[in-house]
Amino acid sequence: MRRLPSTGLEAVEPSLVDRRDRPMRDLRISITDRCNFRCVYCMPKTVFGRDYAFLDRDELLSFEEITRIARIAAAHGVEKLRLTGGEPLLRRGLEGLIEQLAGLRTPDGRPLEIALTTNGSALAMKAAALKAAGLTRVTVSLDSLDDELFQAMNDVRFPVARVLEGIDAAQAAGLGPVKVNMVVKRGLNDHEILPMARHFRGTPFTLRFIEYMDVGTTNGWRLDDVVPSAEIVERIGAEFPLEPLGQTAPGETATRWRYRDGGGEIGFISSVTNAFCGDCNRARISTEGRLFTCLFSASGHDLRALLRGGVDDEGLADAMAAIWRGRDDRYSEVRATLTPELRAARPKVEMSYIGG
Ligand code: SAM
Ligand code: SF4
Ligand code: SF4
Repeated sequence: MRRLPSTGLEAVEPSLVDRRDRPMRDLRISITDRCNFRCVYCMPKTVFGRDYAFLDRDELLSFEEITRIARIAAAHGVEKLRLTGGEPLLRRGLEGLIEQLAGLRTPDGRPLEIALTTNGSALAMKAAALKAAGLTRVTVSLDSLDDELFQAMNDVRFPVARVLEGIDAAQAAGLGPVKVNMVVKRGLNDHEILPMARHFRGTPFTLRFIEYMDVGTTNGWRLDDVVPSAEIVERIGAEFPLEPLGQTAPGETATRWRYRDGGGEIGFISSVTNAFCGDCNRARISTEGRLFTCLFSASGHDLRALLRGGVDDEGLADAMAAIWRGRDDRYSEVRATLTPELRAARPKVEMSYIGG
């Protein structure tokens, strides 16, 4: 136990692990539950329509509250923060939050990596300011290059060209290497796999294919909708031979492949066909301050109540450690053993509320 200059805490537990021996390294923070898109698989208009009750402003964690939680998380071993949502670029004054987070340090004095996942719609406008505030990297979601299909998928008629501009702006601002995430849903956009691969091959951008997941309860997920990563490797490999690359860091979600001819790298996030719960080191904070220990949890632990109840740093650190120590989640590993009925009956938090 030692006092950390960045936290002022006497008692930290640098070797904090959960019941499956997994450390806490990655903290994903949802900073808004709102979004300007209505992606059909994430925030379908039938559910997230005009009358949908989003959180009120005073229900959201303030920037100070977020920074305080992140500071304690860093004392517990977190090295990487990821801001998400909803659409994180919609949160007013976001640069101010990033500045505060950029001041945090790991127990051995290193700055934390601060990443952000965005739909890219406001990135062309904001990339330079985000970089100046201290953001390290961005990941941009893009599910198709076909404008008609993309506009139908985001369901607000947002054009592909403006997302591509955002990706370029982020790279130019020094927020690279920009990762581009494509969620693949069979029969919806799987015919865009090859056009996307061709487009991003040989660029500084890393395209990553995400298996469509049964997050939340509003997207009507069926196993048949999932295009297994192995099938995507085969489809791309038939045109451009591929070879696998090793893992770069423990707990890394993506498996990496590269084009044999030097055309760069692609990634696969295969949470359905190849669960990576075994070394999952991610904690998540919802927009109103609940700590979730799994993307597929039904509920989170209310840290906001502690913060607003006047808890001191030690008390908060103890509470977070106790939650993490009790963690036993491994939903993606058990998913295959559940019948569709059991899966549907299981309450789960929405992706737009907890972030990716
Ligand atoms: N709005 C931002 C964006 O779209 O990048 C950040 C939040 S969004 C919830 C984070 C990521 O989750 C996006 O890449 C999105 O495509 C992905 N996502 C949403 N629903 C999903 C699902 N059912 N399966 C797999 N990925 C999903
Ligand atoms: Fe919004 Fe991102 Fe969900 Fe699309 S995936 S609706 S952009 S939160
Ligand atoms: Fe981690 Fe839960 Fe996903 Fe498994 S299912 S990898 S425990 S978030």
